[in-house]
Formats: sequence, structure tokens, C-alpha cells
Amino acid sequence: DWSKKTRSELISEEHRKVHESEWVHNLEDFINKELCVWCRVARGEWLSGKIQSTSGDTACVMLSSTEVVVRVSMEEIFPANPYILEGVEDLIQLSYLNEPSLLYNLRVRYSQDLIYSKAGPVLIAVNPFKNVQIYGNDILSAYQNKALDAPHVYAVADAAYDEMMREEKNQSIIISGESGAGKTETAKYAMQYLEALGGSSFGVENEILKTNCILEAFGNAKTSKNDNSSRFGKLMEIHFCAKGKICGAKLETFSFDQSRVVQLSDGERSYHIFYQLCAGASPMLKERLKLKAASEYNYLNQSSCLTIDRVDDTQKFHKLMEAFNIVQIPQDYQERAFALLAAVLWLGNVSFEVIDNENHVEVVADEAVTNVAMSMGCNSQELMVVLSTCKLQAGRDCIAKRLTLRQATDMRDSLAKIIYASLFNWLVEQINTSLEVGKSRTGRSISILDIYGFESFKKNSFEQFCINYANERLQQHFNRHLFKLEQEEYEGDGIDWTKVEFKDNQECLDLIEKKPIGLVSLLDEESNFPKATDTTFANKLKQHLKANSCFKGERGQGFRVSHYAGEVLYDTNGFMEKNRDPLHVDLIQLLSSCKCQLLNSFSTKMRHKSPKPATLSDSMNQSVITKFKGQLFKLMNKLEDTTPHFIRCIKPNSKQCPGLYEESHVLQQLRCCGVLEIVRISRSGYPTRLTHQELAVRYGFLLLDTKISQDPLSTSNAILKQCNLPPEMYQVGYTKVYLRTGLIGILEDRRKYVL
Ligand code: ADP
Ligand code: MG
Repeated sequence: DWSKKTRSELISEEHRKVHESEWVHNLEDFINKELCVWCRVARGEWLSGKIQSTSGDTACVMLSSTEVVVRVSMEEIFPANPYILEGVEDLIQLSYLNEPSLLYNLRVRYSQDLIYSKAGPVLIAVNPFKNVQIYGNDILSAYQNKALDAPHVYAVADAAYDEMMREEKNQSIIISGESGAGKTETAKYAMQYLEALGGSSFGVENEILKTNCILEAFGNAKTSKNDNSSRFGKLMEIHFCAKGKICGAKLETFSFDQSRVVQLSDGERSYHIFYQLCAGASPMLKERLKLKAASEYNYLNQSSCLTIDRVDDTQKFHKLMEAFNIVQIPQDYQERAFALLAAVLWLGNVSFEVIDNENHVEVVADEAVTNVAMSMGCNSQELMVVLSTCKLQAGRDCIAKRLTLRQATDMRDSLAKIIYASLFNWLVEQINTSLEVGKSRTGRSISILDIYGFESFKKNSFEQFCINYANERLQQHFNRHLFKLEQEEYEGDGIDWTKVEFKDNQECLDLIEKKPIGLVSLLDEESNFPKATDTTFANKLKQHLKANSCFKGERGQGFRVSHYAGEVLYDTNGFMEKNRDPLHVDLIQLLSSCKCQLLNSFSTKMRHKSPKPATLSDSMNQSVITKFKGQLFKLMNKLEDTTPHFIRCIKPNSKQCPGLYEESHVLQQLRCCGVLEIVRISRSGYPTRLTHQELAVRYGFLLLDTKISQDPLSTSNAILKQCNLPPEMYQVGYTKVYLRTGLIGILEDRRKYVL
């Protein structure tokens, strides 16, 4: 029963089933014919070898590399594929679909710089971490002219485009993978291809790629996993006119990470733009903003990492200015944006002085505060009041209460985050205005989704919960689509097959979404209790969710969720605070009093968000998780209306280093992103598919009776009969033959024998 087992139990069970089914007809053959197998000792790397003998449930295997004979448990031996299948383009062409075979196939391709492969309808992209010569104009035109059809992101973009034009249906390209796996780069290549294909005289198509430069400056940062990690999800919807030319685009972003502005882990950086500005601003601009070197700012120097190897921040700043001009952000607005960046940087240097023994504080009146006030265009006295006090309603009077050091620091950081996040959203709006050409819409579009993949760290908090929730939804979309496709192919080609039950992740989604008793509802409910703490929240979860098999309570503040991609231990510490995300009224008032037009417009937006005039108690309208859920539903609805194309990016090692293929790392991702699932679906059906033509060409000469008619269908029928293959092992469709695992090996044997 699927629902009662943990994911890792299921995987090892599948592993065992694969093992049994692949050996069932074959073990003798592999020994007698000295065919290669995969084996491993003590859960090490998979090694190739040949079985010498078996006894009980172990076997002696001679390793190919060293000719040493080792004794291995039969459970750790899998059939290897025949040599002709080495490095096939599509994993489902393999006769044996066990994990070592899949890993080896991808490795062979990777070592030849063939970074793209397919797993049925899904494109797998293994990050090369170096420039590979496969994106040039020659290659691009070859895909455009259908002269090439090897797996490639261009091929996916091309298929999406063709299908959009042919069926007048919106398409989506859904890219997933862990941080640093190559999602954003892949999305860029997909855009590049579509721009080349749908280029028009409007010039919008050049703009779409240029916008990436702006988004990356403001939304990407160096993390421990990726020197250029996007800290937001994005959906780029490219619109085409009836003739297939690009006529506009729309950008949507999701769950931007604000906390990075004020808090960094060791060795990581804040958003690129801060360093670019400090390094690249002209002396005049520096003087106007009172800008110093990045190392002078507390928000930047706290992580002892100010530069990135091989990245020139000054040069990047100049590129950014070009992009600003292409997107037509007026000069004065550019300068206002830079001033706000300076304000954020100086805010980090604002310090407080404790004035009594209750830890109450006053702002230190130094150059930091003066510069913040100057950059924001507000009165520095007012700023100091807002940063060190809060207004309380006492009957009819409003009194100001001093903040403690901790509260004041939080207030200061909140202001920095509000300014930066608003600036980011404003930029997205500017980009959208410039991409919107306003030609009539035809309903033809291709959306490219680049969203961060499943995350599981040592410590997982609210952010990981949101990301993993989104991935859970995307996985359901993926499952439904693929099972449908598989079914349609069999039915369309007129062959019988019993429907494969698909194991969906509904139980986990219920755990999260179900009302009134689900993680999201319970979190919101608890967030509304003024007295609730992270511990009371954790207890509430344990009390209400224990019946769901995807949930496990932990001692203290923790809880575990069995996601499709693995189990994650969450720490409720901070959940409540992050979910409430209170908008401080005093801060909004301050922003609206500023002379800076940008800040005014931000504050107006924030006011509009709350239904009533903002007061401290009800400024919290929709919780963060509920907003996130709403956004996610909107996204899923949009995707449901499109034909999806899936790309799964794989990170071959955690060192961001070329040529290094770490098997266990790859395997874990293949499992996480559902590649093994697709291959498993295929295994329960007929994984090897050859057109009648292909079968006739390769094996036709085996036929003894040459009088058989020449059409490929009869030829392939005759070949299958003559070889005495068990009838349950294959099916003959209108256009193809469908072979069960292992059958192609038997045919190859016959062929070799005759040759
Ligand atoms: P993600 O968006 O999945 O976090 P990125 O797309 O930012 O990952 O990729 C991380 C890094 O990997 C890039 O900065 C680049 O150096 C390298 N990379 C990714 N894809 C490719 C590719 N197709 N060719 C060359 N390098 C790549
Ligand atoms: Mg990215």
C-alpha cells in the first residue's frame, strides 16, 4: 500500500522489483554468454563485471577493470545493457532500466559533452559547468530547419513552437531542478531559440533577453550552491501573433527572498546589484549618493565574501546600465533606484545606543542616518523617531513607546527589506511595460517556468516549506500529464494494455492544503492567536495531523513531511513571524512622507493592499502562506491550459566543477525529479519501441522465408514469429512494435549468431 510507506521504502521496493523482473528470464544467459553486469560492493560505486558462478544468493563476479573476482550479494547485481545501446539518446530505449544502467548511460553521454538526453517525453539536462559548443547559430538553424533532432533545449522549444502554431494551443516549458542545476541558463537558451524563431521588426525579442540582465542583478546572489543563484521564481510568457512572430511578453515573479538583504550566511553574498553599484558607479554618482566601498557596509561585509571568482562587478554594472536603457527606464528613475539602493546600504550601518536598563534605545545620529534620510528624501529626525519608537493607541491618545534594541534592529531591517522588495517589484513592472507591445492578443503563447526545485537542508524553515509545497503541486501536474501521454500513445497505436495505476502525491497535498485541518489552515489559525508561539504551533500540528501518513511529529518544535522527493524535517522556529509578516504602519507613513516619488508610490501600493486604513492590529491582512497558495493556484490554472514540455536539470556535482560526475548525487536527483518514475512507468509497459521500418531494416535478413511481402508491418510480424518470442513479451501496433524489457537483447543475440 503506497500511502503507508515512506518514500525510501518504496524506492528500495521498486529497486527489488526491477531486479526481479530483469533477471527473470536472463540469469543463465548472462552467465553462459559472459554478458556484462553491474555490481557494487558495500554500497560503493557501480562497477562493471561478468558473473562467474552463483551460489545461493551471492555470486562471484569478475570486475572488468581489474579482473579481480569479488563475491557480491545477488541483490546488488543488475544486468547491463548490450553494447549497441551504450549512450542511447532516450533512456527508455534501454533494455534494462535499472538504476546503474541509467546512471551509466547518462555518464557516457556526459563524458562526450552530450549534456542532453531524454527520458520518454522529458528532457534531461546535465549541467556541463563549462562552455559547450552547442548553442551557436549553426546549431540553432539546424534545429529550426529540422536537420537535427538530437535531444536539446532547442528541440524542446522548437516542438513547443510547432505545436502552438499547429494546434493553436498555448504551450509551457517547465524547468525544474535543484539550485545550481542549470534552470535559469536553460530558460535563457529556450528564450534565445524562440526569439530567433519568432523574431520580428518590433525589436521586443531582443528586449526579452536583456531583461534577464536586470533581473539577475537585482534578484540573483552568490550562495553556497550557485554563484549566480536566482532568489525568486519566474514565469516568462511570450506572446506570438497569428503569423508566429513575437508580439510581446509578460513576466511574473514568485516568492522573492527578502531576508537576504539584511542577513547572510558565511561565504554568501547579498544581491549582485549592491556590489555592482559600489564597484561601477561613476565618481559623480558615488559622490551624490555618498557611496563607499562594499566592505564598508554591514549588510555586505557580515559574511566575509565580497567578490566572486571570475566575475567583474564593474563591467556588470555597465552592462546593467545598457539594459536599463533598452528597457527604457528614464535616467531620473534609474538614479532614484540607485539612491534607494544606497539608502538600504546605509540603513545597515545605522546603530543604536542603549539608554536605560530596560534595553531601550536611541538612534545614534551619525553619517549613516543622515545618508539614509538624504537618499530617501525624508527628514532625518522623523526617521530616527520611526526607527526607535512605536506608536500605541491608549484610549483616544496616541503615545510613543521606546523600542528595545532587538525591536529597533528588527524595525530597521524591515525598512530595508520593504524598500528593496518594492524596488524589485517596481522593476518587474517596468520590464512588463516595456515588453508589452499592445498588439492584439491571439491566444498564442509559450510560457517558460523557472522555479526553484525541492529543497532539503539540515535546517528547514518556512521558506523551504513554501518551495517544497510548490514543487509538490508541480509534481502532480507532471504525473498527470505523463500518465495521460503514455496511455494515449498505446491507445492511439491500437494495442491492448492494462492501465498502470499511478501513484500520485494527493495525500501529501491534502496534508498541506486540506481545510480546515491542513498545514496551511492550521498555520493561519495559529498566526491569528496573539499568544501563539512556534511551540504551540508544532503541538497543534501533532495533535491534528497524525492520521496523515505523510506527517510525522517530532519532539520539540519539529515535524516531518514525506514529500514525493523525500522526507524533510522542518523546524517551526520562525514560521509564525514569517507568516504574519506585519506591515508596520509607521514605516508606511514614513515612506509616504518621503520626497522620493518611487517611495511614495510604494507606500500607496501597500496601503491599497489592506482593505481598511492600516492600523497596527489589522495591517496584517492576508498571511504570507495564503498569498503564496493563491499565487500557486493561479499559476497551476494557467499551466493546466497549456501543453506542457518538461525539462529536468541535473547538477552532476556539488563543486560547480566541469567533467565531474558524482553518481550518488545524480541518482538522488533522478529520484527526486521523477525521472525514475517515468522510466518505471515505461518498465511496466513496453519500454522498447521500434517502428516497423526500423525493425525490418535491422533484423529483416534473419527471415528464412524471403517470399514474405515487402511492407514493413508484415516483415516485422514475420521476424517476431520466426524468432519464437513469447507472445506476452511484445505487441504489434499500427506504426510500431512494442517490446518488453530484455527482448531487444534476444533479437541482438540472434543477429550476432547469424552474422
Ligand atoms: P539554477 O538556475 O538551476 O540555480 P543556473 O542556471 O544559474 O542554475 O546555473 C548555474 C551555473 O551553471 C551557471 O552560472 C553556469 O555557470 C552553469 N551552467 C548551467 N547551464 C549551463 C549550460 N547549458 N552551459 C554552460 N554552463 C551552464
Ligand atoms: Mg536560477
